[in-house]
Amino acid sequence: MTVLVCGGAGYIGSHTVYELIDKGDDVVIVDSLETGHIKAVHKDAKFYKGDIRDKEFLTNVFDKENIDAVIHFAANSLVGESMVNPLKYYDNNLYGTKVLLEVMIEHDVKKIVFSSTAATYGEPERVPILETDKTEPTNTYGETKLSMEKMMKWTDVAHGLKYVALRYFNACGAHKSGEIGEDHHPETHLIPLILQVPLGKREAISVFGNDYDTKDGTCIRDYIHVTDLAQAHILAVDYLMKGNESNVFNLGNGVGFTVNEVIETARKVTGKEIKAVMAERRAGDPAQLIASSEKAKTVLGWKPEHADLEEIIASAWKWHSTHPDGYMDK
Ligand code: NAD
Ligand code: UDP
Repeated sequence: MTVLVCGGAGYIGSHTVYELIDKGDDVVIVDSLETGHIKAVHKDAKFYKGDIRDKEFLTNVFDKENIDAVIHFAANSLVGESMVNPLKYYDNNLYGTKVLLEVMIEHDVKKIVFSSTAATYGEPERVPILETDKTEPTNTYGETKLSMEKMMKWTDVAHGLKYVALRYFNACGAHKSGEIGEDHHPETHLIPLILQVPLGKREAISVFGNDYDTKDGTCIRDYIHVTDLAQAHILAVDYLMKGNESNVFNLGNGVGFTVNEVIETARKVTGKEIKAVMAERRAGDPAQLIASSEKAKTVLGWKPEHADLEEIIASAWKWHSTHPDGYMDK
């Protein structure tokens, strides 16, 4: 089977490509390298550098390759940036997806698995969050992801294009080989930022708010290993290839950790002090986000294999301590 991975040079995309190739699939990657890295591209994948909004370019890829299914990661995903430059998010996340779906339909490729996010929920009414809970995003990024889901829904109605939307919670960790890992510019995610302290790249980690209604006052999140996310994409493609209906799944461990607990675990893993300083709340941060992933477990047969936070942080530490400057291609 040949799978087209849009955004396969990015963090979650590159890890998914590694798993697809391990499984024996042929992989074609389309990536503009806007935030991805050429060094994250698996040597056995076929790589096309280009933008999914460029219809001529994308059509050429679909003409040349015999694509059976698409996994779509290509998007902008910085919450803060999405609030100051919302139209950039509408252009890339929505217009980009619109062009991709058009080209898919024109080539009779009608199966797509794509990255959605916990940010589609906004402030949750309860935890753990179920897929049927209300979706009221509190930022442009989450809104564009929810709109992508709806674009797929109506494209299914009109054209029979089947999709799986995977709503990830907090992606983290790195591949067991130590060859690929997380390298975002700017980095905004908690675990890589914490690990910059023992690497000597940052004096302290700022804790964004300690007056939330949680056990230690800091925000609670559900941290999920990137390889477990990658496996869920493979299961979702299988699910569609078997002729199943379009669907939406949460992907998380169902366990929440406070920011302080994550910092404490990083101290244990690295054996380093890791200074933490209290800071203001970050605008738009819900107090807690925890997934119910029962649906993914039951319907897709998904089983996270790296649920232990210490193991997750150890895998991230292995990557960052051996690649303190990431891929160094930017
Ligand atoms: P990333 O920035 O590392 O990867 C995105 C990739 O897509 C990059 O390689 C980038 O160059 C490419 N890209 C972006 N726009 C493109 C375009 N128009 N044409 C071609 N390539 C393009 O991000 P990531 O952290 O790997 O996230 C992957 C997906 O998962 C995103 O859609 C993101 O919104 C979603 N997501 C991420 C998280 C997380 O915790 N990292 C959580 C929830 C959802
Ligand atoms: N956070 C923090 N300091 C940082 C970065 C993040 O305290 O330097 C907190 C943030 O407020 C949130 C949690 O860590 O509660 C996870 O943030 P991240 O940006 O990694 O993911 P998000 O949950 O926003 O998708």
